[in-house]
Amino acid sequence: NFQFYAREMNASVEEKLVLLDGLRNAVQATFEGADNNGFRLLYQPKVDLRTGRLFGVEALIRWQHPEHGMVPPQRFIGLAEESGLIVEIGDWVVREACRQARAWMDAGLPPVTMSVNVSARQFEESRLVDRVAAALRDSRLAPELLELEVTESLIMRDLQKSVAKMRELKAMGVSLSIDDFGTGYSSLSSLKTFPISRLKIDKSFVSELADNPDDQAIAMAVISLGHKLNLRVIAEGVETEQQRAFLRENECDEMQGYLFSKPVTASAIEDMLEAYALE
Ligand code: C2E
Ligand code: CA
Ligand code: CA
Ligand code: CA
Repeated sequence: NFQFYAREMNASVEEKLVLLDGLRNAVQATFEGADNNGFRLLYQPKVDLRTGRLFGVEALIRWQHPEHGMVPPQRFIGLAEESGLIVEIGDWVVREACRQARAWMDAGLPPVTMSVNVSARQFEESRLVDRVAAALRDSRLAPELLELEVTESLIMRDLQKSVAKMRELKAMGVSLSIDDFGTGYSSLSSLKTFPISRLKIDKSFVSELADNPDDQAIAMAVISLGHKLNLRVIAEGVETEQQRAFLRENECDEMQGYLFSKPVTASAIEDMLEAYALE
């Protein structure tokens, strides 16, 4: 009795095998450009808190499943990571995101930075830097418009190797940001050595920002730490006007969240950018 929606962690071996088989088919279908199966990217706007401008988007993967419809990443990223399929899937995400960012520019829309989530196994894979370089070359996207979002826990798995790889990417012109900041445990002294340009405050600290003094203290501390290290600070999961007001008053630089927009299709982003271009 296969339960597709069973949480991966509790899934039986058999359920995992079915999911894995489905994932392999989805990788194949993605490369073949099938309509009824495969991965898709949605894009969530990132907005400057001071000016209100959409300056970037984060690519977020979905699996268009032939029977189950749109499957969110929590249902399959874990197994993709465990099985190693994440390397192929992640490579596709980087390529597709670069292609899309370039297509918007070719359509005459204002340039936006494209952020892509990178998982641990994908980051550690030996050819990551070459793969990113190839994606940039093939799409003719300026490296400055690509940002990779990595987590502290990913970096801390092998600190020295991670920092070396981040430096290689930075040397290519690609920027790096720390995702889910505050939920992992990198020491403050290691943070100083990361060649990053942005910290992202995790949405777990944002959801109760309006009335939880602890979350307020954490958000303020991250903003001030980030600024002292010359980093931009973005808050994710901003859903209410009160949260936005708090972040603005406390000089957070940027926000992302349902208050401005949920993750949407490329064509919806295009419409938002067109609206700006007309202003
Ligand atoms: P994340 O990188 O922390 O992404 C933020 C998640 O919060 C996204 O969920 C986004 O849709 C959701 N979100 C954005 N604004 C709000 C809001 O205002 N309120 C609430 N409640 N949620 C909001 P999503 O798209 O389901 O992605 C979940 C996670 O899956 C991501 O967390 C990321 O870790 C992973 N992921 C997504 N796409 C990729 C990918 O292409 N590659 C890899 N390796 N991981 C990915
Ligand atoms: Ca992210
Ligand atoms: Ca997060
Ligand atoms: Ca349009």
